[in-house]
Amino acid sequence: MEKILISACLLGEKTRYDGGDNLIEGLMDFTKFYDVVPFCPEVEGGLPTPRIPSEIKNGAVVNKEGEDVTRYFEHGARKALNICSFLGIRLAILKDGSPSCGVHEIHNGRFDGKKIPGMGITAAKLQEKGIQVLNEQEGLALLSELLEKQAKKEMKQTKEHGPRRK
Ligand code: SF4
Repeated sequence: MEKILISACLLGEKTRYDGGDNLIEGLMDFTKFYDVVPFCPEVEGGLPTPRIPSEIKNGAVVNKEGEDVTRYFEHGARKALNICSFLGIRLAILKDGSPSCGVHEIHNGRFDGKKIPGMGITAAKLQEKGIQVLNEQEGLALLSELLEKQAKKEMKQTKEHGPRRK
């Protein structure tokens, strides 16, 4: 089965900066079509959980206390890319808005809760290397297409061969 990388927090792992998660239960249905590989670039990059929140500012990642933590984010992004290359992963579903995983938007670097268009460090690295990156909403849309196709296929098979015996 093909493999897919998904932000660990979207699958319920408590990897968020505040020790929480961003669980979207529906995304677990990807296991019907892919081997799911959960991954958190910030944890894998060497940061603790919970941790001081960070945002991207002028190309660097800086935490709320003013420390430049770019190296951890880059390390996590390199690891994500290595895992994708090693496992032949071509698609990643990432949590939008994060300085690592953001696909279409990130926080503006002022810690005021506002977001701007942009990509997180890992999302940008994966995309640059030809891996398709989708945010959680796009992931859900893709999943519903896959489920719909599967349901149609099963219906066709039932028409042709009758219901499957259990
Ligand atoms: Fe989730 Fe990505 Fe943040 Fe880790 S870095 S908690 S996977 S959004």
